[in-house]
Amino acid sequence: MPPAPPASDRWIVLKFGGTSVSRRHRWDTIGRLAQRRAGENDARVLVVVSALSGVTNELTAIADGAADSDVRLLQLEQRHREFAVELGLDPEQVLGERLAALRALGVDPRAGGRDLAWQAELLAQGELLSSSLGAAYLRAAGLDFGWMDARQWLQASLLPNQSPWAQRLSVSCSTSPSEGWSAAFRQQPARMLLTQGFIARHEDGGTAVLGRGGSDTSAAYFGALLGARRVEIWTDVPGMFSANPREVPDARLLTRLDYYEAQEIATTGAKVLHPRSIKPCRDASVPMAILDTERPELPGTSIDGGAATVPGVKAISRRNGIVLVSMEGIGMWQQVGFLADVFARFKKHGLSVDLIGSAETNVTVSLDPSENLVNTDVLAALSADLSEICRVKVIVPCAAITLVGRGMRSLLHKLSDVWATFGRERVHMISQSSNDLNLTFVIDEADADGLLPVLHAALIDSGAMPVEETSVFGPRWREIAHGIRKRDTPWWQGERQRLLAMAAAGTPRYAYHLPTVRARARALKQLSSIDQHYYAIKANSHPAILKLLVQEDFGLECVSLGELQRVFEVIPELSPRRVLFTPSFAPRAEYEHAYGLGVTVTLDNIESLQRWPEVFRGRDLWLRVDLGRGDGHHEKVRTGGKESKFGLPVARVEAFVARARQLGTRVIGLHAHLGSGVETPQHWKQICDELGGIANRIGSVEIIDIGGGLPIPYTADDEPFDLDAWGAGLAEIKAAYPGYRIAIEPGRYLVAEAGALLLSVTQVVEKDGVHRVGLDGGMNALIRPALYDAWHDIVNLSRIDEAAEGVFDIVGPICESSDVFGKRRRLTVATTEADVVLVADAGAYGFTMANAYNLRALPKEEVLDV
Ligand SMILES: *Cc1c(COP(=O)(O)O)cnc(C)c1O
Repeated sequence: MPPAPPASDRWIVLKFGGTSVSRRHRWDTIGRLAQRRAGENDARVLVVVSALSGVTNELTAIADGAADSDVRLLQLEQRHREFAVELGLDPEQVLGERLAALRALGVDPRAGGRDLAWQAELLAQGELLSSSLGAAYLRAAGLDFGWMDARQWLQASLLPNQSPWAQRLSVSCSTSPSEGWSAAFRQQPARMLLTQGFIARHEDGGTAVLGRGGSDTSAAYFGALLGARRVEIWTDVPGMFSANPREVPDARLLTRLDYYEAQEIATTGAKVLHPRSIKPCRDASVPMAILDTERPELPGTSIDGGAATVPGVKAISRRNGIVLVSMEGIGMWQQVGFLADVFARFKKHGLSVDLIGSAETNVTVSLDPSENLVNTDVLAALSADLSEICRVKVIVPCAAITLVGRGMRSLLHKLSDVWATFGRERVHMISQSSNDLNLTFVIDEADADGLLPVLHAALIDSGAMPVEETSVFGPRWREIAHGIRKRDTPWWQGERQRLLAMAAAGTPRYAYHLPTVRARARALKQLSSIDQHYYAIKANSHPAILKLLVQEDFGLECVSLGELQRVFEVIPELSPRRVLFTPSFAPRAEYEHAYGLGVTVTLDNIESLQRWPEVFRGRDLWLRVDLGRGDGHHEKVRTGGKESKFGLPVARVEAFVARARQLGTRVIGLHAHLGSGVETPQHWKQICDELGGIANRIGSVEIIDIGGGLPIPYTADDEPFDLDAWGAGLAEIKAAYPGYRIAIEPGRYLVAEAGALLLSVTQVVEKDGVHRVGLDGGMNALIRPALYDAWHDIVNLSRIDEAAEGVFDIVGPICESSDVFGKRRRLTVATTEADVVLVADAGAYGFTMANAYNLRALPKEEVLDV
């Protein structure tokens, strides 16, 4: 058995807020958690609670002299009685005395003058009531809980310069225990104690309250006074995040911070922990934790002095309602005492300045609404005052975007994308804190909308926010809130030996796993809403893949004569009826040739009909339309809308059909393909719906082709495409247009995951602190990263079992700066010449886009089947 810790180190303080104490099952959780903590190496537990949710607001309204105070008091009494009943307690027995005290305060003669001591006493009732209920409930459940009045233990300390209001209603407390304090505390008989947050003893023996965030701060004071092992703040969120999860679903849980970073994050945005509560724990070296009452299994956020100082941006926040005051004056900077004059005027209006920027003839400061009472009256008075000494301009409303993290100065070179993002907005002011912990940009509030997700992603991409540091960055909010449908283990993990043997025969080399293609094909075939399936062979035209998909009853979609030739070379017996020809700006001869072969031709402009009537006269065709917008994983793969060269605008369909009729040409198919790698299943449902409407107007249409574009999960963050939701959406539309057959023509979805590109390491080089792994193929073998900034997972197949602890840029041999497969990728530090590296998910638009640039040979290709 481990020796019992010293008495002073036995306490664990748990704090529960309003929502955590307002429901019966939450009190069960409190009891369970307290007991579990008490079982930790002979600990004792102090539970600090808030008032029931909403109660402090009510009491504040009454303290402020609300006209209907009587009614509000009655409702408060009722609420607590009802909750006592919900807890299975006798309201009179548990709350009788307290409710009488509450009623007495309502008719107290001091109420009329809104006496400060009276206000404090009134405000304190919420916590006194909730803690009394909780203690009675936990005891009734058989737990060894004692109840304490926090006012016996927390002593408000009066600070010089404090207003009488602050000395009563926004107090700080002493954190050095007096003689005998600790001993007396320890002598409380119960193993676990319950007390109130927010309230303390005034010097005059009466009640004082701690003000906003008071319960967190109470817990921190108790933690410091007790030299506690830990202070745990239990809330209804999982902890602090790298951004507000409501605005940035990809925000990461911050699992470990030091006090200073946590303080900065709490101050600049995160509402989970009141910034005031950190200092007492920091001064007493008591670790803190923020934990989620509903999800206690999550790691939460730990805050302590020993947190490894990982440099980098930890969080980005946005505060709205910032007011900028810009002051112009000629040569004022040299003028002795100018700034003193300026700040004296701010002080006079009770305004505390947050950020300051200065130049030869201008000083600009910001006012934070959470620290100031800034309304138009105050600003007008301030402006009038300041205009005596300078020209004043007030700029509202502004937003402050703040990056928080240790070592901001050393990160500046990584922030170029962040600068670029701000470059498009008007930045009024940039300010860097002297403690090197934050960097703030002030911009117009309207410009800040939608900016945070972009900035958050840019910070991760640039390496400024080191999310790969798992000691600091936990799961994404999205993942916590909804769970992530995980990708299956990739096939190549089970084929390592065969792949290494293939690579030994020469790299670069593509390997295609046919069972994966087959599985994707069958998954699509299972959806009953789709009548006809085509495969867009430009994604991968390897003969084995074409044969396999034809066997699986897929037709083939070609975009050039070369692709048509490939198809009939590989499968001479293929019926031309199963082949689509959907070219873009093809020469006339290709259309003639295609009709000669007997395949189905798709046309997407009216000019061809007009100029080459003899090609189309008496023929059938499919019409490709542009629905006026594009979609997809990258600008370069969006194939709809004004900027795109594809498709006939819907407005011209009528003219097209009229012209076709003159030629005896029948429009029997209607087609749209708006882009590639589209993530929203509703996209196709919408297309189908629109095409159905157009088809109804044309009359001769038999089939609607809703294109390809289905995505695959390239990164660990991507979720697998929800085929079922997709199929269900299409089924709805099909029901609305039962007269048409529905066709699809995906490429990527069928083959991307089936392909892996095998490469060999040529060199490992360090330059200016960046380590690079060079490979024997680059953008010549796989152009997607260079062309689309595409992500592909990269692993060292030769050393797959070694921990990937090195950080490398992975580059190819092409003389071109964009020849980079990935930046800051993790591979084992042992990576060396001749190791085989695998680039995953390279089965689509890999080999088919490969080229001989720099006169490097094309990659080899090989298939694996079971
Ligand atoms: C490329 C292409 C496809 C296939 O796109 P994926 O994103 O690979 O599914 C389908 N139809 C047309 C017309 C195409 O050009």
